[in-house]
Amino acid sequence: TEHDDQSDVVVIGGGPGGYVAAIKAAQLGLKTTCVEKRGTLGGTCLNVGCIPSKALLHSSHMFHEAKHSFASHGVKVGGVEIDIPAMMAQKNKAVAGLTKGIEGLFKKNKVSYVKGSGKIVSQGEVLVDLLEGGTKTLKAKNIIIATGSAVKSLPGITIDEKKIVSSTGALSLPEVPKKLVVIGAGYIGLEMGSVWGRLGSEVTVVEFADTIVPSLDAEIRSSFQRTLEKQKMKFKLKTKVVSVDASGPGVKLTLEPSTGGEQTVLEADVVLVSAGRIPYTEGLGLKEIGVKMDKFGRLEVDKHFQTNIPGIYGIGDVIPGPMLAHKAEEDGIACVELLAGKPGHVNYDTVPGVVYTHPEVASVGKTEEQVKALGISYAVGKFPFMANSRARTIDDAEGLVKIIADKETDKVLGVHIMGPNAGELIHEAVLALEYGASSEDIARTCHGHPTLSEAVKEAALATHSKAIHF
Ligand code: FAD
Repeated sequence: TEHDDQSDVVVIGGGPGGYVAAIKAAQLGLKTTCVEKRGTLGGTCLNVGCIPSKALLHSSHMFHEAKHSFASHGVKVGGVEIDIPAMMAQKNKAVAGLTKGIEGLFKKNKVSYVKGSGKIVSQGEVLVDLLEGGTKTLKAKNIIIATGSAVKSLPGITIDEKKIVSSTGALSLPEVPKKLVVIGAGYIGLEMGSVWGRLGSEVTVVEFADTIVPSLDAEIRSSFQRTLEKQKMKFKLKTKVVSVDASGPGVKLTLEPSTGGEQTVLEADVVLVSAGRIPYTEGLGLKEIGVKMDKFGRLEVDKHFQTNIPGIYGIGDVIPGPMLAHKAEEDGIACVELLAGKPGHVNYDTVPGVVYTHPEVASVGKTEEQVKALGISYAVGKFPFMANSRARTIDDAEGLVKIIADKETDKVLGVHIMGPNAGELIHEAVLALEYGASSEDIARTCHGHPTLSEAVKEAALATHSKAIHF
């Protein structure tokens, strides 16, 4: 058993919440150690989440474009083929490069990195089961729990990561399944469904609720669903998976309307279970030391990210809020700023959400339904990408920008975009919300021409006046 001298901060978990908190803590002059059991840094996001999924989304998009769009741009290619191992190698290269990069950042910022599984044995003491064998005790004034989340399964469904896969298995399928059934129409299911759909799978998405991605603005959501349907993705909404039988060569799913009724059978080669994620706190010793959790298993924290036990904090997927990497990062930064005696704050009203399908869907702030429910009088400005010159030059003009502004003050309340590069375009709106801008502020801001961003300017113009190009 090794003993380490006292740190100011020990961070358990090296995902976007944990590694960012660790780097920031060290930058603020705190002696910092980060414990990670995976063997690589970057957490879910870099290893089996955001990064590999975006790599496959890009590769599969290129294949699809080469097959279906190049010719119309006058680019002739011969027989376009898929090489799955090469596609996976490209994805793995991106992941390996980025996770190694964080190790480099740790060295540069003098964060100690301990590879192993951490358990809080008492206030101020973490026992690490080292990956290389043996244990190590870390002492710290402050302990930050950044252990993230894990895949949620469904009752009666056993994930084998071969025929019945989680997102992790869906990121590494050895071949294109002929029929892929996705359980859960959240962003992860739609992204992975898009990947394999572009590569040739027949994709059916089964969803218990009556809509896909319920957090989206309803108008954007229904055009999004239509767009995905045009891409041949099938939807079975208001449908419940009663049982899954993987004993034969394929998988048989028994379905039933959510509200009960006649059962039907759906066949698949691979089933992706993407019905949500649950906070991960296993093996941390939280029960033993009495850390309070809510009914969803999330840590209860105060405005300083502190749990009910002084000196023990929580950030990222393991606490309430959207389970997103950038939210975890913001939590991490604010938490350690507060630890260092500085002001630290996260504006949860301006956390953007992006679905990286094609076109992308991105949003920030309130949906029209939320604004309506709050009884706020509002104005809506919309601009379709069909009327945006850049979108037309790249022949990628599906979708629209929708801006919701307060009718009296013109303050921007919410921005919802479906379209090419929506995930990049949204940040002008995030900044607008953060600065409390009016839609006129956006509309009077000079935007480069021809750019997709002009669609945001025009939608802003349309909230209080008239768009020029539509
Ligand atoms: P995590 O990233 O889960 O990291 C926690 C780490 O803690 C893990 O590495 C784990 O090994 C480690 N750990 C746990 N217990 C211990 C212990 N006792 N000791 C030591 N280490 C421990 N979010 C986005 O914002 N954009 C996206 O595009 C996006 N795409 C996604 C796609 C998929 C397929 C998935 C699954 C998720 C995606 N997410 C995306 C969500 C994102 O990955 C998470 O919100 C984010 O990783 C949460 O960060 P975190 O630091 O809280 O936890």
